[in-house]
Amino acid sequence: MRGMPELPEVETVARELREGSAARGPSVLGRVIARVTVRWPRQIAAPAPRDVEARLRGQKVLAVGRRGKVIVFTLSRDVMLVHLRMSGDLTVVPGEAPPDKHAHTVFQFEDGSELRFSDTRKFGKVWVVADAAAVLGALGPEPLDDAFTPAVLAERLQGRHRLLKPLLLDQAFLAGVGNIYADEALHLAGLHPQRLSDTLTQREVRALWKALRLALNDGLRHNGASIDWQYRGGGYQEVLRAYGRAGRECQRPGCTGRIRRIVVGQRSTHFCPVCQLKRGPGVDWVEAAARRSRRARRED
Ligand SMILES: [Zn+2]
Repeated sequence: MRGMPELPEVETVARELREGSAARGPSVLGRVIARVTVRWPRQIAAPAPRDVEARLRGQKVLAVGRRGKVIVFTLSRDVMLVHLRMSGDLTVVPGEAPPDKHAHTVFQFEDGSELRFSDTRKFGKVWVVADAAAVLGALGPEPLDDAFTPAVLAERLQGRHRLLKPLLLDQAFLAGVGNIYADEALHLAGLHPQRLSDTLTQREVRALWKALRLALNDGLRHNGASIDWQYRGGGYQEVLRAYGRAGRECQRPGCTGRIRRIVVGQRSTHFCPVCQLKRGPGVDWVEAAARRSRRARRED
């Protein structure tokens, strides 16, 4: 399975950098950047890699947050944004720590410690900009914000005519949701990943809204999911209901289905063909009930 850190994983990394943790070292807050070593220039999206040290020198880390899947460092003058992508990780270590050959960008602080951006697969990105909107401006709403209400979700779903699964992955539609949490939310809501966004009833929209918040909050409570990227320490992979469970029994109480893996919009997608309905509830409930009945007769 290939995964990428999503909202709960990125939020956990940001929190650990802010507060300090066993996995990520002491808090990064208050440290002042003295030098920047760039060993993989393509990791620096902005400014030009050769200018990044001059731009960052003397800037203090004032806050660490998250927007979508991006870690946001508020500095004295600029904002530094880090996208971990497939395999990125950030740690704060003492200057004398053993070198890490995957730490392609290293931010050295005045106190001798360093923030290392380690990235075995080299898909991660760093931006240093005056205004975060230059990079984050196109992102959709944050699904855990108070402003993200069922009415907001309803309006956004109605305004598009797209399959639910790829739409939920679209960062301009909703920020922070990726393959794991989209599959989990659709399963919790009982919605087929190939339902069209503008065909949902009010009840279905509300179910999806609740399911998105539930899956993301559960993920946060477990410090995210540790699948196969470098992200460590999460526990949500232990309680997944759909993602990565192809062939296994559906865990919805009373459901007799098995999780199936299909490809939707080029992304692997896990769902239960019995309790996640494709068309309207009317037709599909009948079909699902008929399938259950046939299966029950076979087992008799
Ligand atoms: Zn099911």
